[in-house]
Amino acid sequence: MDEMSTSPVDNLTKILSDRGSISVADYMALSLTAAGVGYYKNGNPIGANGDFVTAPEVSQIFGELIGVWMMMVWEGMGCPANFILAELGPGRGTLMQDVMRAARAKPAFRQAAQVHLVETSSTLREAQGKALRSLCRPEWHESFTALPEAPMIIVANEFFDALPTEQFVFQGGSWYKRALTLDDNGRPFFAAGRLAVPPVEIMPDRTPNEGDILEHCPAAVDLIGEIGSRAKNAPCTLLITDYGYDSRDYGDTLQAVRAHNYVDPIQPPGTADLSTHVNFAELRAAAGDAGLTPTRVLPQSEFLMSLGLEQRLRRLMTDADEEQRAALFLGAKRLVDPFQMGSLFKAMAITSRHIPPPPPFSPESRVIR
Ligand code: SAH
Repeated sequence: MDEMSTSPVDNLTKILSDRGSISVADYMALSLTAAGVGYYKNGNPIGANGDFVTAPEVSQIFGELIGVWMMMVWEGMGCPANFILAELGPGRGTLMQDVMRAARAKPAFRQAAQVHLVETSSTLREAQGKALRSLCRPEWHESFTALPEAPMIIVANEFFDALPTEQFVFQGGSWYKRALTLDDNGRPFFAAGRLAVPPVEIMPDRTPNEGDILEHCPAAVDLIGEIGSRAKNAPCTLLITDYGYDSRDYGDTLQAVRAHNYVDPIQPPGTADLSTHVNFAELRAAAGDAGLTPTRVLPQSEFLMSLGLEQRLRRLMTDADEEQRAALFLGAKRLVDPFQMGSLFKAMAITSRHIPPPPPFSPESRVIR
C-alpha cells in the first residue's frame, strides 16, 4: 500500500478508480495500518479523549486479574525460568502495566517474564514505553512472527477485532467476496465482488438466505497457525478478550467508530476505527487445525468474576476516598454489566495441546483471590 504514504487522507475514491475494487479485508488494512494514513499509525485513538475506551482503560482491575490469571498459567506450565510475556496490540500499555504491578506479588514470575509487545504504531509504542518504564524493559515487534522461540504467555485485548476481515455475500445462489467499489456517480459502495467460496469451517448449519454475509479473518487464522508452530517446541498459552460471537453465524459486523459514536463504515482511510466482531468459532477451528487446544468461550463477566473481581474491588475500596470508591465501582460494573461489557465481550484461551485448560475455563474451576 505504498501509494498511501504520499497521498492525502481522503484518497479512497482515487484508489478505487485505479484498482476497480478492493476487498473488505484490504479496505480494513488500508484504513487501519497502511503506511502514512493508517488509523493506528497516527495519534492516540484510545481513551476518553480518543475514539473508544477499552477494558484496561475502564478499570485497573481488568489488567490485575489478567495478571493473576497469567501467574496461574505460568505455574501450570511448570514455572519456566525464562518465558515470553507477550501482548498483541497493547494500546497505551495500561493492561501490561496492571499485569506487571499485580506480578509484584510473585517475584519469581516477574523475574522470569521477558515482556514483548507486538505493535505497529510508533505513537502507541511511545505511550507503552512510558507506561512500563518503571516496571519492565519491553521489546517491540512489528508482527508476532518476529518473536523469539521460548515458552509463551500471550494476551490480546481488542486486537483480533482490528485484524482485516473478509466478507462473503450470498447472492442468486452463489457466494461472492464482498468488495468496495465506485457507483455510477463515483461514490464508494459495497458490492458483491468476485465469485468466491468461503472456508467450510465457518459455514453455519442453516442454508443461507439471499444477502446473508459470512465473515472470515485470514490474519487471525494465520496468527493462530504461527502460534501452533511455536507450540511444537515450547508451551504456549494465548488469552483472547474481545467482543464477538461464539457460534457459526451469518451477519455483517463491520463497524466504524469515531469520537465514541458509530459512523458509516465507508470512511476516508485512517479517519475512523474500523473493526469486526471476533468470530470465536473460527478461532476455535483454527486452533484445532494448528494442533492447539481451544478452551470454551466465557462471557467477560464470568471470566472476571471467577478470577475474583468482587474481592479485588472490595479490597481497593477499603483504601479509597468516596470519590475514588464511586469511580472504582462504576469501572468494575462497566466491565461485568451484561448491558455494557459483560456479555458481548468474551474470553477464550488457546493452549498447547498438553496444557490443561487453565482456570476459569476448566468446567469445575472457580478461583477466588
Ligand atoms: N489492547 C489495547 C488496545 C486495543 S486497540 C487496549 O485494550 O486498550 C488495537 C491495538 O492493536 C492498538 O495498539 C493498535 O495499534 C494495534 N494493532 C492494530 N492492528 C495491528 C496489527 N496488524 N499489528 C500489530 N498491532 C496492531
